[in-house]
Amino acid sequence: MRILIIEDELRLAEALEQLLMHNNYQVDLALDGEDGLYQALTGNHDMIVLDIMLPKRDGISLLNELRQQQLGTPVILLTAKSETRDKVHGLDSGADDYLTKPFKTSELLARIRALSRRRGEITVTDNLVFADMEFNPHSLELWVGKQRFMLTKKEGQLLEYLINNQGRALSSTSIVQKVWGFDSDAEDNRVQVYISFLRKKLKKLGSMAEIRNIRGVGYLLAERADQSSRLEQ
Ligand code: CA
Repeated sequence: MRILIIEDELRLAEALEQLLMHNNYQVDLALDGEDGLYQALTGNHDMIVLDIMLPKRDGISLLNELRQQQLGTPVILLTAKSETRDKVHGLDSGADDYLTKPFKTSELLARIRALSRRRGEITVTDNLVFADMEFNPHSLELWVGKQRFMLTKKEGQLLEYLINNQGRALSSTSIVQKVWGFDSDAEDNRVQVYISFLRKKLKKLGSMAEIRNIRGVGYLLAERADQSSRLEQ
């Protein structure tokens, strides 16, 4: 799980980074609101820990912007005691939880676990649907009509990521980060291999869904218009 910390007090930011890394989370750090917004919009995070008082762009306006851009990543707000009004405002703006400074590290960890569980439940109960296929990320069953295939865990995570971002081209880098959970420039090959596994399964099932190569960008999950457009490609 990858967490973005947006906090301008360097000592606190670094302490949080250490704490989360020590608890096996991957961590990105932003020290002002502008960098935080940029990283949040581009970085594939599973959760954001967001301070309210920040240089360049405050936490509430940052959060508003994220939600306006349809980014649903769970956000935990960090507020000072004097900022009660901001806290209410923050929850109205789409924060999922908040902590008042100073807080115990155990409390932050508990909030993170609770939020990620809540989030996990949503994906488990709902089958993901795209074009004529239906995928259950929990059981890893992929259905097209009455036909079924079992996916491997990595194939399933890849397909889940593609379905959740349907209509958007995804770079190999973002796929590696999301599915394998680390940064690497040399992992294109791995992504290619798993994309080809998925393509084979979709083809065998006769699905209308296909994974397109977008040159210079990456991969896009799309629906075939009809048989003839399929032949042209
Ligand atoms: Ca601050």
